[in-house]
Amino acid sequence: MKTVLLKNTDEDISRAGQILRSGGLVAIPTETVYGLAANALNGCAVAKIFEAKGRPQDNPLIVHISELSQWERLVSGIPPQAMALAEAYWPGPLTIILPKSGIIPDEVSAGLDTVAVRFPSMRTTRKIIDAAGVPLAAPSANLSGSPSPTCARHTMDDMCGRIDAVLDGGECNFGVESTVITLAAEVPRLLRPGAVTPEELREVLGEIEIDEAVMGRLKDGVKAASPGMKYKHYSPKAEVTIIKSNLDKFCDFVENMKNEEDTFALCFDGEEKKIRLKCVSYGCEGDSLTQSHRLFTALRELDERGAKTVYARCPSADGVGMAVYNRLLRAAGFSVIEL
Ligand code: AMP
Ligand code: MG
Repeated sequence: MKTVLLKNTDEDISRAGQILRSGGLVAIPTETVYGLAANALNGCAVAKIFEAKGRPQDNPLIVHISELSQWERLVSGIPPQAMALAEAYWPGPLTIILPKSGIIPDEVSAGLDTVAVRFPSMRTTRKIIDAAGVPLAAPSANLSGSPSPTCARHTMDDMCGRIDAVLDGGECNFGVESTVITLAAEVPRLLRPGAVTPEELREVLGEIEIDEAVMGRLKDGVKAASPGMKYKHYSPKAEVTIIKSNLDKFCDFVENMKNEEDTFALCFDGEEKKIRLKCVSYGCEGDSLTQSHRLFTALRELDERGAKTVYARCPSADGVGMAVYNRLLRAAGFSVIEL
């Protein structure tokens, strides 16, 4: 299949809309990461997303809308708490899970009785949804397991030949996927951290629970509330280990390592001179927003430069940092050394 690269023009947005309406797949920019979109109300179109990504069948998709009013017919009801959340943080990088309505195909919800919905803030994304005239199911546009793409080139690297088109809307603003919260549980539960922080959620909802899978690995036999969280994810080809320490101890730790060609440090900006390994940096220490913007690009750069072993400086897990830590922990397959 030839994959067309579309531009961010009215003409190309309308072409993307046509492809989507007729059951095709288009990778689209959003403020979080690039999404691989299909008509969410067409089970056959949605099934192609799983095939193109190599995504496990039990991992449900997020449905994207371009106006608040489109939410109602996707879910069985909108409780006041959910509406309050939407009013506070939509349009934006927040996904809300509620019991689904009858029009959601099983392919979208992967057999669950709930549906995840997001109203994105990026104007181009909303124009594409409007052009399609239907809500769009869109997981991240990476091959399953690799880091999510945050620009059109990374999307093409993974999806060329597998989908109808990629629409180039420039670099994504946040660079990590949306915050996912379920309101289908007794107490609201954070399933995936993102740019909307736990503190911001608590301001609207009061108490929330943070799912065990957010900060650690699920124990064997525990059922994942968010199926996506149980997989090794966001991962470069290299073996990544997070080193929990200050910079001096990190430097001492890697000092004794043989400086092999393919051993790298994933560090903070400005630390390169002190570290005796080849370095790729992902933002200043303590600047979680920049780290989230650059993390996935840094992981892809490590692959491009042939890294086999990577030691990563540990990000703060506060606020937006929880999303950065959560993604890096999965990229590292939960391998952490505390010094
Ligand atoms: P992606 O769009 O690739 O970032 O994946 C969407 C994430 O949302 C995955 O981690 C899914 O497991 C999660 N998700 C989507 N729908 C649901 C749902 N109905 N219940 C729980 N988690 C969901
Ligand atoms: Mg994904």
